[in-house]
Amino acid sequence: MASIELKNICKKYENGFEAVKDFNLKIKDNEFIIFVGPSGCGKSTTLRMIAGLEEISEGELWIDGKKMNGVSASDRDIAMVFQNYALYPHMSVRKNIAYSLKIRKEKKDVIEKKVQEAASILGLEGVLDRKPGQLSGGQKQRVAMGRAIVRNPKVFLMDEPLSNLDAKLRGQMRVEIADLYHKLGTTFIYVTHDQTEAMTLGTRIVVMKDGVIQQVDSPQNLYHKPANQFVAGFIGTPPMNFIEGVVNFAPGGVFVETEDGKVEMPPEKAECLKRRNLSGKRVVLGIRPEHIDIAGENEMSHKKAVIDVYEMLGAEAMIYLSQKGSKEKLIARIDGTMPLCAGETVNLRYNLSKIHVFDITTGKTITN
Ligand code: ATP
Repeated sequence: MASIELKNICKKYENGFEAVKDFNLKIKDNEFIIFVGPSGCGKSTTLRMIAGLEEISEGELWIDGKKMNGVSASDRDIAMVFQNYALYPHMSVRKNIAYSLKIRKEKKDVIEKKVQEAASILGLEGVLDRKPGQLSGGQKQRVAMGRAIVRNPKVFLMDEPLSNLDAKLRGQMRVEIADLYHKLGTTFIYVTHDQTEAMTLGTRIVVMKDGVIQQVDSPQNLYHKPANQFVAGFIGTPPMNFIEGVVNFAPGGVFVETEDGKVEMPPEKAECLKRRNLSGKRVVLGIRPEHIDIAGENEMSHKKAVIDVYEMLGAEAMIYLSQKGSKEKLIARIDGTMPLCAGETVNLRYNLSKIHVFDITTGKTITN
């Protein structure tokens, strides 16, 4: 177990490109931290700086109260699992797992005991004498984790460990990694661009964009209280819908006037918009697909739209909506038993207590 602190960490590559900018994070013992973000946002670079595989251009890295800038990767007591497994193809699974212990000149019986323990945790007992070429993708990934486990590291770093696996195996291995984390009780830092992995594995998630942290929070808070429009759009599948409009303080209430009509803000959001004196200001409304309902003929509706595509997923269905003459598209997640089909016109009603309002210029959340 280990606590880690990154203080004002920056990475500038030799060509002058700034991949990570002023990264600050305190990681407690036994946390499962996820770095997530679009391709090229600096996730792997940050992880590699923690591992000691990439030089830190500016800032300080502390592990368990010791400054680690300049300490070699092998002296950091960290194990890293890569997406390409990095196994030795000519060695058996047993020898692959034992390799680091052999280098450390551990006693034979100690090595055997640790290999057996790791194999039992990972369900690899039956394949210890096989070579990597005789294993499935999932088994290879487990061997890579086995190699990390026997070192008994303070920290596990994982860089997209599941990205070479098919969807079903990914799901299975995800559960296995969660189980491993609970069994080992060690600090994990895990890089992924897959938000399902991020949301299901992380105790806290760091969302990055262009080398800059956008929000560090629990999966629940990222979903329900995004700090800005980028996080709101990045976390959640299908993504949050965004609708532009202008704030209007009318005698009957506070509204956001959109292309299709006005959306009345519930009291606490209205209060917030008033407090900030945002009358006349252009904003972006955010509404998740599950917070759009189909309204009946005579019920209050916020918008009429045509179903372009109807995707039946079983218990629920996704409907992709548009309005004639408008470029704006919406996605709604509805009950799969609703008898709807493509081409139909429907009345939509927003669950206003769940609506988000963002500043159109900065993207920052005005109300959650
Ligand atoms: P991905 O999900 O695609 O792996 P990432 O978020 O892990 O992306 P990084 O690998 O950390 O991204 O790279 C961050 C940025 O730094 C990218 O724009 C990348 O092109 C750039 N970069 C990486 N290595 C170097 C290098 N050696 N020299 C210059 N730029 C680099």
